[in-house]
Order: sequence, then C-alpha cells, then structure tokens
Amino acid sequence: MDSVTLKDKLFTPFIGEEKIQASIGEIAEKINKDYRGKSPFFIGVLNGSFMFLGDLLKSIKLECKVSFIKVASYEGTTSTGNVNELIGLVEDVEGEDIILVEDIVDTGNTLEKLHELLLNKKIKSIKVATLLYKSEVYSKKFPIDYIGIEIPNKFVVGYGLDYDGVGRNLNSIYVINNN
Ligand code: 5GP
Repeated sequence: MDSVTLKDKLFTPFIGEEKIQASIGEIAEKINKDYRGKSPFFIGVLNGSFMFLGDLLKSIKLECKVSFIKVASYEGTTSTGNVNELIGLVEDVEGEDIILVEDIVDTGNTLEKLHELLLNKKIKSIKVATLLYKSEVYSKKFPIDYIGIEIPNKFVVGYGLDYDGVGRNLNSIYVINNN
C-alpha cells in the first residue's frame, strides 16, 4: 500500500482491506448470533458509516431494517446553548431493537447524544457497533457492544472517514503523517 496525499496532508497505510473485512465478518457473526429470531433495525450514522454498514449488511443473515441518521448540532437561541437534533430518521422506531452503527468512536460525545435522542423514541433496545474505537479517548460509561478494531489516538482517514471532506472512498484506512 502506498501513502496518499489528501489536500495538504500526507497519510500512511494503517489498516488494510483484509483486516477491515475480517473484523467486519466477526461483528456480523456476533450480531447474527445475538439477534437470532429477532429483526433488528440498523441505523448508520452519516457520513462516515456508509461503507462499514454496507459491508456489514452483506454478512447479516437476519431479517432487518436499515436507515441512516445525522446529528445536527447548532447554536440555539435558548440559554442551554448547543441544541442537538436527529435529522433524516423518517421511520417510526418505537418498539424496535436498534443497532446504531458508527464509523469511529472517539470521545463518545456523538454516541451519547444519539443514545439520548433515540431513547426518547420509545425503542425496545439499543446496541452500538463501531468499526474503529479510540479506547484511550473514550470517556463515557455506557458500553460499546460491537467493536471492530481498537486504535491509538491518531487521526485516520479512509473507508468512509474523511479529511476535510475527502478520502472517504479509500478502501483501507490511513493514518496522518505528522513528520
Ligand atoms: P466522538 O463524538 O466520539 O468524539 O467522535 C465521533 C466522530 O468524530 C466520528 O463519527 C467522526 O466523524 C469524527 N472522528 C473522530 N476521530 C476521527 C478520526 O480519527 N478521523 C476522522 N476522519 N474522523 C474522526
């Protein structure tokens, strides 16, 4: 694998396609087992999760639903400051067994907000699957149920993840070169 330049930065190969796919296969196997007889509802967090969710679903043998969401964060006019909102979720999720699918969990802030927002919708259960996990940075209490690959606290791109909007189409994952 060669290094890639995205805009002004150089990125070096970090996790190859084979390792990514093997890790996704393991997650799919666990989900197939854990949800046997159930019909989970996969919700991918945009933009980064589209490749992971696409590949994951190819190995899911269960009857399931799929949708995507985005979290919009904006400065509100109320005294509470930041207001967070779910956008894109048009389906009714009441009573559903949700599997929230993230590209990467870093501090867990995004996940925490999504969790709260979804719990308000009277779902039956919620579990979280992430391809990448920065364990050194994660600061929340709630468990992440399905973790693909733990990585150090470094900025990565590819396989859905971007640097300033580009790099999402790369088949494998690259790490920023700080030299
Ligand atoms: P958290 O809310 O857990 O701190 O961060 C989650 C979001 O931050 C991810 O969904 C992703 O969009 C972004 N993010 C965190 N770490 C990285 C990284 O190393 N590379 C890229 N491209 N995005 C990241």
